Amino acid sequence: MNRMTNTEQVETTEVILKGIAAAPGIAIGPAYLYSKEVPVVEMKKIPAAELEAEVTRLYNATARSEKELQKIHAFAEQKLGRKNAEIFEAQIMILSDSVLMKAIEGRIRSEGHNAEFVVSDEIGKYRRRMLESSDEYMIERAHDVEDVMNRIIRNIRDQKLFSRLEGESIIVSETLTPADTVIFSRNQVLGYATNLGGISSHAALLSRSLKIPAVVGLRRATELVKTGDQIAVDGYSGTLAINPSKETLTKLRGTAERFRTFEEQLVGLADLPAETLDHKHIELSSNVEFPDELQFVRVQGSVGIGLYRTEGQLIGRGDYPGEDEQYELYKSVADGIYPHSVIFRTFDVGGDKLMPDAVREDNPFLGWRGIRMMLDRQDLFMDHLRALLRASVRKNVRIMYPMVSSIEEIRKARELLTRAKADLKERGQRFDERVKVGVMIEVPSAALLAGEIAAEVDFLSIGTNDLIQYLLAVDRDNSYVAPLYQPFHPAVLRTIKEVIIAGHRKHVWVGMCGEMAGDPVATLLLIGMGIDELSVVPSMVPEIKKIIRSIRVSSARRIAGKVLAMTSAEEVKEYLLSIMKKKLPDIPLQELNDEPQEHS
Ligand code: PEP
Ligand code: MG
Repeated sequence: MNRMTNTEQVETTEVILKGIAAAPGIAIGPAYLYSKEVPVVEMKKIPAAELEAEVTRLYNATARSEKELQKIHAFAEQKLGRKNAEIFEAQIMILSDSVLMKAIEGRIRSEGHNAEFVVSDEIGKYRRRMLESSDEYMIERAHDVEDVMNRIIRNIRDQKLFSRLEGESIIVSETLTPADTVIFSRNQVLGYATNLGGISSHAALLSRSLKIPAVVGLRRATELVKTGDQIAVDGYSGTLAINPSKETLTKLRGTAERFRTFEEQLVGLADLPAETLDHKHIELSSNVEFPDELQFVRVQGSVGIGLYRTEGQLIGRGDYPGEDEQYELYKSVADGIYPHSVIFRTFDVGGDKLMPDAVREDNPFLGWRGIRMMLDRQDLFMDHLRALLRASVRKNVRIMYPMVSSIEEIRKARELLTRAKADLKERGQRFDERVKVGVMIEVPSAALLAGEIAAEVDFLSIGTNDLIQYLLAVDRDNSYVAPLYQPFHPAVLRTIKEVIIAGHRKHVWVGMCGEMAGDPVATLLLIGMGIDELSVVPSMVPEIKKIIRSIRVSSARRIAGKVLAMTSAEEVKEYLLSIMKKKLPDIPLQELNDEPQEHS
């Protein structure tokens, strides 16, 4: 959803602020600075003769607050549906909690204090307890409790609620409550930009449902923006441009247009689960290398990141980033994808991938690559692990090791991870104690030891790009042998099947993040072989989801059974294509992949 006014920008200095993308879309227009004063509550003594009237003020105020919330709830329900309106029901429930109300009334009478003070103190206690929680969800809910508290206080004081806008505006504020979000949506609001807030806040959730672009967590937005300033909210990348330049505006309009086309293709699919006709859920996720790509992942709906190639950040630099710099990146990715999760693959340098302090090797693909190099360069690896752990506080981060070829490597990596955790504890820094750890199966020795590896970790992810080259002895980047690079080679398929069986025997899930996972011709087969997760380039998510939603595991299994008995890649491809044409005629099929698959 992209909302713009026709106003063009006059010459002024552009300021760009970075925040958290909370609801997708681009909004360009004048700012409206919405400052809602947090009520300052004083403790006052009420004369005994007036205590009855004070209690009446309390109950009148709660009744009025409830009426307001009922109205907002009805409007939200009609506009957003029952589920999304539930937050207001929860707020109404706080108001009608008779134990809480009796406690407040009791304190007014026994202490002789004013109603505002007792409300703020009593409800404030709950709020503080929630804020102390390490659970992000609880912290966000504390803001809802605060909203109810402020509403009662405002009504005790008989103050009116502001909710009118003059013309189309982008609301800029310290924070927005769910009620603000809904009330403003009745007006001509183009977008939201707030100093505080996370993407799991209800206000963010509601703006996504209302399809109003929003960026939260901008920190200094209210300080730098004045009402009437021309601003642009980019809800894809999470930025706010104040007085955007002509170039920025052109770029934003281009982004809006690209997304419009992209979103048209996704209509209806983004919110549907990746589930087969016989209800097997397949975890469908995305491969990402650069933070900018996150915007493409988000528009896909409920999709996490199954492979984040951390080495992307090393491109174009002559050194390794330090722990803090890495942490900032991982945290922004983990925040950006929350509440879904991200699997960060530890630096996979070497081979075809550049590394800042590259060494010359005769056979780089058989050389100092991935986990091998990291285990030798523990100084770098420890910074890397600590940065990854620090980004895991919201419990949506997983760590995965590349290029593993023996059990010892996993054990050594585990030792270092334990040490990194101890370092953070000593420093008093938070992380997810139970962060899940997985291994890429991309070397034949690891495939053969998949069962033993699975016993040591939480998940396996098959990296077909490398697995194919190492199994078939075909350099993935060598055009002379490109026709020999065959994902459907029976040896590759049988290896994949064995890895899945071995993983399942040890009760760990088995995914695939090589390019084969995003090949529509392979989907049926992979599901038939029992794959649990497919991580694909973001643009392939809709097509793969469509296939998953059109098939039955029972028939996919039969097809996989037949394929696994075949003896040539040609035979496999021909068979799979004929099945696709028959069973899934609406899936547009590209020319069959005789060419090597594209990969980084
Ligand atoms: C793979 O090898 O399949 C993989 C996903 O990793 P990369 O392409 O980054 O080596
Ligand atoms: Mg690889």
